[in-house]
Amino acid sequence: MVIILKKNADKASVSRLEEMLKNKGVSANHIEGATQNIIGLVGDTSAIDVENLLAQDCVENVRRVQEPYKKANRKFHPDDTVIPVRDTIIGNGSLQVIAGPCSVENEDQIMTTAIACKKAGATMLRGGAFKPRTSPYSFQGLGKEGIELLIKARKETGLPIVTEIMNGADLDLFADVDVIQVGARNMQNFELLKALGKCGKPVLLKRGLANTLEELLMSAEYIMAGGNMNVIFCERGIRTFETMTRNTLDISAVPLLKQKSHLPVCVDPSHATGIISLIEPMSLSAVVAGADALEIEVHCDPKSALSDGGQQLTPEKFTEVMTKIKDICAYLGRPLGK
Ligand code: PEP
Ligand code: MN
Repeated sequence: MVIILKKNADKASVSRLEEMLKNKGVSANHIEGATQNIIGLVGDTSAIDVENLLAQDCVENVRRVQEPYKKANRKFHPDDTVIPVRDTIIGNGSLQVIAGPCSVENEDQIMTTAIACKKAGATMLRGGAFKPRTSPYSFQGLGKEGIELLIKARKETGLPIVTEIMNGADLDLFADVDVIQVGARNMQNFELLKALGKCGKPVLLKRGLANTLEELLMSAEYIMAGGNMNVIFCERGIRTFETMTRNTLDISAVPLLKQKSHLPVCVDPSHATGIISLIEPMSLSAVVAGADALEIEVHCDPKSALSDGGQQLTPEKFTEVMTKIKDICAYLGRPLGK
């Protein structure tokens, strides 16, 4: 981190700044230039608040030269993180396909869909029990009963289950869930992230609708700072000026996150595009870009779905998409599942 001092900074203010930096455990190196004086900081600057420095009388500007995330940073952890989930592994070069309905609606719906997803080659099962809906009048999910039905579906199919948490107070209900999803709308719910930091279970952390990749990395850092290193990023599209798709899928996020971080990356083409005909090309693009996992919405009868009916694939369409995904995995030499 570099602090640029004001031209006529008074000595007392600079001394106060130095004392403050010393207390933060970093060493300050002064460089006197012909027109500008600067202070270079050496040490762990992750706990230094840039806004606080800018509030000091003698400070003109502050530049970070190191990323503010440490535990999620590939610089300090060069090897890929691999996350075991039952007898599958995320992040070891294989591709995991997480498929299932937007919401768990009833036993027949989740069982039929789960069996069809497994038959088509999915390696994990998704389904929302607690649903973050834009309208309070829309279906809010079955809650605890939804999780119990997912567990039943896992027993039947052997597929590990992925489901979303909205409130840290519900964490006990997720004791038998394999991967806990944090939805886009909760990416910066820091109290929830802290609670997940203490739970140790794999977390699928979705990118917020209007969040930068650095903010996503910082949210992962929250979970990791609590001691839970099992975080998987999920790119699910961001809000842009485009209106033809539900969101805009940022494929560049995949290689970029993998360069910046050692954590696995998942792509959700369903919420990213909201358009059935785009699920296949976006899934294939994500795999080629290096995604470790895909999350795809599939419903046994999308026309009767209680949420996101327009973007969920029928089992027949999902089977077609999976055929292409298998082809691309074979071409890239990437195993599907395991
Ligand atoms: C979901 O996956 O069920 C979901 C609500 O997605 P997102 O948080 O990405 O909108
Ligand atoms: Mn959905």
